[in-house]
Amino acid sequence: MLAVKSASPKINEEWLTFASDGYRGLFETTKVPMLDGDGHLIGVLGVAHNITARKHAEEQLHLAASVFTYAREGIMITATDGSIIDVNETFCSITGYSREEAIGQTPKLLSSGRQSASFYAKMWRTLAKDGHWSGEIWNRRKSGEVFVEMLTISAVRDAQGRTEHYVALFSDISKIKEHERQLEHIAHFDSLTALPNRVLLADRLNQAMVQVRRRDLLLAVAYLDLDGFKTINDLYGHQMGDRFLAALASRMKLALREGDTLARLGGDEFVAVLLDLPDVPASEVLLQRLLNAAAETVQIDGLTLQVSGSVGVAFYPQIDDVDADQVLRQADQAMYQAKLAGKNCFHHFDPDQDRNVRGQNESLSHIRQALDARQFVLYFQPKVNMRSGALVGAEALIRWLHPERGLLPPAMFLPVIEDHPLAIELGEWVIDHALTHLEEWQAQGLDIPVSVNIGALQLQQADFVERLCDILAKHPGVKPSRLELEVLETSALRDIAQVSQVLHACMELGIMCALDDFGTGYSSLSYLKRLPAQILKIDQSFVRNMLDDPDDLAILDGVLGLSTAFRRQPIAEGVETVEHGIMLLQLGCDFAQGYGVARPMPADDIVAWSQRWKPDPRWSDVPALSRDELPLLYAGVEHRAWIVGLEAYFKGARKSPPPLDHQACRFGVWLNTERLGSRGRQAEFVSLEAHHRQVHKLAAELVALHTAYKTEDVMKRLPELHQLRADLLVALLKIKPRTGYRLLRSSGASDV
Ligand code: C2E
Ligand code: MG
Ligand code: MG
Repeated sequence: MLAVKSASPKINEEWLTFASDGYRGLFETTKVPMLDGDGHLIGVLGVAHNITARKHAEEQLHLAASVFTYAREGIMITATDGSIIDVNETFCSITGYSREEAIGQTPKLLSSGRQSASFYAKMWRTLAKDGHWSGEIWNRRKSGEVFVEMLTISAVRDAQGRTEHYVALFSDISKIKEHERQLEHIAHFDSLTALPNRVLLADRLNQAMVQVRRRDLLLAVAYLDLDGFKTINDLYGHQMGDRFLAALASRMKLALREGDTLARLGGDEFVAVLLDLPDVPASEVLLQRLLNAAAETVQIDGLTLQVSGSVGVAFYPQIDDVDADQVLRQADQAMYQAKLAGKNCFHHFDPDQDRNVRGQNESLSHIRQALDARQFVLYFQPKVNMRSGALVGAEALIRWLHPERGLLPPAMFLPVIEDHPLAIELGEWVIDHALTHLEEWQAQGLDIPVSVNIGALQLQQADFVERLCDILAKHPGVKPSRLELEVLETSALRDIAQVSQVLHACMELGIMCALDDFGTGYSSLSYLKRLPAQILKIDQSFVRNMLDDPDDLAILDGVLGLSTAFRRQPIAEGVETVEHGIMLLQLGCDFAQGYGVARPMPADDIVAWSQRWKPDPRWSDVPALSRDELPLLYAGVEHRAWIVGLEAYFKGARKSPPPLDHQACRFGVWLNTERLGSRGRQAEFVSLEAHHRQVHKLAAELVALHTAYKTEDVMKRLPELHQLRADLLVALLKIKPRTGYRLLRSSGASDV
């Protein structure tokens, strides 16, 4: 476009168009002076260039460049041979490589090795065909860290459709992926224990079912509910309960095998899926391990906490076609049976029992009907002083005289109504009838206290004491001091403040109180101080095993110490043999109840029994040992435990025998220390050592036979081992105590 500015300006056509259009677009003008031959200015040549398009193109380029530079995505431009031509800043910050380091390399620089060659081959095919590819890819930063990126590659083609280069755009989505993973974790895992939750369990169980069917193997679903967990929550708060659950969960997980699943359904309910079992018995070792783990003690903030587990087990495949949900429900039902069977055990689901359990809903109404139809009866078990032979009381134990199934023990029906108001009604029936029987005995000249067991629900009633007084008022001939309440140590722990209040109120009325199954709760000093129960009934589990389990003996010893310190009266439950009685007397516990004295009997038999009964003569003059003589008692128990261990080894229940060296077993260690003291010179002590060596000699022979697979010969010779044990225990009794009295008159070793 030209314009000449002069006296008579001249313009070309373009200028005209420009002038008429008005100024639109971007112009660049150049002014050139026009001179004549003499050098006089005759005009100015104005040249105007319309540079709109160029400017636009420049801006576009600038924009593209800034997009390239500042894009939040990493950008990489490569030639068709893959060599990197350029990268942007974000590329550098994501990958850690500088522009200089990247240019000239190929994208292999970033390879993480996570994608296969076929993955890349497919990517290139798509690029060639469609001109672009996008997807997720794992790459590696310069630092070595692997990250996941969202990548789009486009082929840039010329007018002829030939690829000139490739542009790859990517963003680091590691954080998004991590977040996704966290969300997934939350959806599939329990936040407290980090175990799979119900959703993931269903998934795994379904997969496992397919897998075992294909492999022609079995799987077991074990439904575990903790026994007594509520008490921990009630006593120490939910936070402590949560920490306890988390600790127990990891122990239970460790008890299983690698491929097994342990899931938490919520609360204190867990499910284990045990895979690839050849047969049903193969599950038992694992289930026992699971139970052991659930019953381990857990230390938190100086507290020792312990519960146990009840496990129901269902297997897959079954004769009927069942789905994952059904198997889980079957295991749940079997768990309920395990609870009924006394907890801390596992119970297999079986269809016959299934029918029974389905009847459980009815059983509540059956129990109601049974109460109306007077089908409940009370049996009584005597409590005695073993030393004096006195009958000191009788415990009322409820039985259901079922018209079809005969006499049912409380474990068959009490758990069904445990948390139902019917438990209160039945509990009041028990107190009322126990007092009626007491009046009958009194009429026959037998005046002993009667004790009744009080369930947790009954004890928690706000008006418990009032109602108790109402029942007592119906029996004016009975002094309140003749009634004794047995409260389970574990239910006393549920609400210690309330129970303590009730016990105080009862004490003021003159009613006696006992803590039942003592030792199964926490038996701690601080709460014992708050519970004014005069009597501690030592749980039968410790009593039963104290003869050959030094740990149980130690617990028993501890509980007795506790009762002395707090001036409570101890009584041992479950005294099954004369030997148990002897040991208890030696430990200073004179009161006992158990089959070794009498089994529970109908109320009508009590008076005749009391007239007939004589304590075992071996109990009459057993001295209580002083504390420094107790090691002698422990030594005997250690030796019995050693024999139990040896027999367990022969029967395959343990992998290795107990120490065979006669100096290394615990009895041997005790002998060694005693030898240095005054006893070492006694002739009886020398003889005891000889007995001990003899037992070990025989044990070594039997172990040799066992290792040579001659187990039958070992079994034949076990009576020899028992005889030597008996001889050793007799020799032990002959050791003269330091305090100068004989330990026992009679042989306490006759049960071998
Ligand atoms: P418990 O109060 O600890 O009663 C002792 C249990 O041990 C009784 O079982 C008794 O028969 C049994 N036993 C006694 N001596 C021996 C022995 O030497 N060896 C063995 N192995 N067992 C022995 P039973 O009658 O089956 O009662 C079980 C539990 O049921 C009782 O334990 C008690 O907690 C509860 N119970 C019984 N009657 C009632 C009741 O009327 N009300 C409530 N709430 N609970 C009751
Ligand atoms: Mg009791
Ligand atoms: Mg008991």
